Amino acid sequence: MLIQLSHIQRLYRSDEVETTALQDIELGIGHGEFVAIMGPSGCGKSTLLNILGTIDRPTAGSYRFGDEELTHLKEAALAKFRRENLGYIFQSFNLIDELMIEENIELALIYRNIPKSERRSRVAHAMDRVGIAHRARHYPSQLSGGQQQRAAIARAIVGQPRLILADEPTGNLDTENGTQVMDILQTLNDEGATIIMVTHSPSHADLAKRRVDMLDGQIVISVRNAI
Ligand code: ADP
Ligand code: MG
Repeated sequence: MLIQLSHIQRLYRSDEVETTALQDIELGIGHGEFVAIMGPSGCGKSTLLNILGTIDRPTAGSYRFGDEELTHLKEAALAKFRRENLGYIFQSFNLIDELMIEENIELALIYRNIPKSERRSRVAHAMDRVGIAHRARHYPSQLSGGQQQRAAIARAIVGQPRLILADEPTGNLDTENGTQVMDILQTLNDEGATIIMVTHSPSHADLAKRRVDMLDGQIVISVRNAI
């Protein structure tokens, strides 16, 4: 197993109300899996992805990644863990407007003590992978949505992460660009990357190897897709 979540709970408390965003989540994910998470708005999909990405912490339960228990790690150790293991893709691309595309991608490598020349070649390779090299010196606002998402995928993969987390990566894209993004994710998975993707698209979920359905903060079904 790459990932084992046990009894994961996430409560949000304010003075008046308590919201259970996640309740007793049990989820194991093996190396090389491609998991699609589906469910209605508000059921806890993003909360689950944020906990998997260590951007958020569970209020109870255990998160093991490889041999390591993550829930007790301090923020600095988690930041190092994220840099070394994770790549993120968001619905809204989240590129930095003031940086050129190649600079956005290189930023993912900057805190890793990688020499400039190697950073350059890795960035070039990542841009080639997603067909965005001809836009290297453009700014995000000069690109179409599909191009921005491909640039964001290049940023996610440039550090060669073991796990790619994608929250509705095709949610803001038209059909053709959505298909391109799914093709790229499938290729990355074929090459060994483990992928966990939230989606509202049943046809995109069918392209994953496994589908996990959520409702009211719980996992209700987990099924392996026929290939
Ligand atoms: P989804 O991604 O499936 O639409 P979320 O994970 O964003 O759902 O939200 C799950 C539940 O947790 C919802 O009821 C939502 O209102 C609540 N929630 C999410 N973030 C917060 C927050 N920062 N404070 C309070 N409640 C939150
Ligand atoms: Mg969400």
